[in-house]
Amino acid sequence: ARTLARKTALVTGASRGIGRAIAQRLAAQGALVVVHYGTDGPAAQETVDSIVEAGGRAFAVGAELDTVDGVEQLADAVRSGLRAHTGEEFLDILVNNAAVTGHLPYAETTPDLFDRLFAVNVRAPFFLAQRLLPALRDGGRIITIGSAVTRIALGDELAYTMTKGAMEAYTRTLANEAGARRITVNLVAPGPTETDRTRAFFRSSPQMEAMMLQGQALPWIGQPADIADPVAFLASEDARWITGHVLDASGGTYLG
Ligand code: NDP
Repeated sequence: ARTLARKTALVTGASRGIGRAIAQRLAAQGALVVVHYGTDGPAAQETVDSIVEAGGRAFAVGAELDTVDGVEQLADAVRSGLRAHTGEEFLDILVNNAAVTGHLPYAETTPDLFDRLFAVNVRAPFFLAQRLLPALRDGGRIITIGSAVTRIALGDELAYTMTKGAMEAYTRTLANEAGARRITVNLVAPGPTETDRTRAFFRSSPQMEAMMLQGQALPWIGQPADIADPVAFLASEDARWITGHVLDASGGTYLG
C-alpha cells in the first residue's frame, strides 16, 4: 500500500547495502526518496534507477560526511532538491544509515580512525538532523541505523561500537526534545546483515555460515530487506506512539 504517498524521505548511505534497501522500501510505499551517497555516484544512480523502474520517485545527492561542511552541503542539497521536485522544502522522514564500518583490533585503532568513525557515525547525523529539523514536518520521523554490537561485546569493533552507543543516547534524548512537534526518533539495531560488503565473509565457508546461524534464534542470515521493513514500520503512521526506542532487528543474535 502507498502509505507514504506525498511524503519525502532522505536515506543517507543509500548507494548500496542496507541503505539502498531502505530507500527502495520507502519509495515502494510512495515516498519521494533522496538517495544520499558519499563517493559512489554511479551506485547511487543504480538505486535511483531501480526505484524509478519500479514506478517510484527518487533522486541522488552526494556529500562526504567526514566534515561538517559536507553535512551542511547535504542539508542544502536536500532542501534545494526537494524544492525542485515538489515546490516545497519539507522533509518527512530522515534515515541516518551512512556509517564507517569494518573491523579493527583495539591496539590498531589510531586517533585518526577513531575521529573518522565519530565524525561520520555520530557528528554527521547530529548536525544533519539539527540542520534539517526546521524543514522536518510536524509528525516527522528520525530513524537511525545502529547495531546489535551495543548489546553484544564483540572484539575488534570497540570504537565502532562506541559510535553506535552514542546514537542510542542521541535517540532517547532527541526524542524527548522533538516530541512536542509529534516527531518520533527511533533506532533500528541490525545484527549481521548480508550485503555486497559482507557477503564474501559471511559465505566464506559452510562452517562460517553454520557458526553465524548458531549464534541466532532465527535460521537465516539477515538480509537488507529484514532491516528495511522495520524501518518502514517506524516511518509509518502506525508507529506514531513509539519514540526514543531501540528496536533490535537481528534475528535474535546472541540471545544466550
Ligand atoms: P555499507 O558499508 O555497505 O554502505 C555504507 C554507505 O554509507 C554507503 O552508501 C557509503 O557511500 C556511505 N558512506 C560511508 N562512509 C561515508 C562517508 N564518509 N561520507 C558519506 N557517506 C559515507 O554499509 P551497510 O549497508 O553494511 O550498513 C548500513 C548501516 O547499517 C550502517 O549504519 C552500519 O553501521 C549498520 N549495520 C550494518 C550491519 C551489517 O552487517 N551490514 C550490521 C549492523 C549494523 P559510498 O557508497 O558512496 O561509499
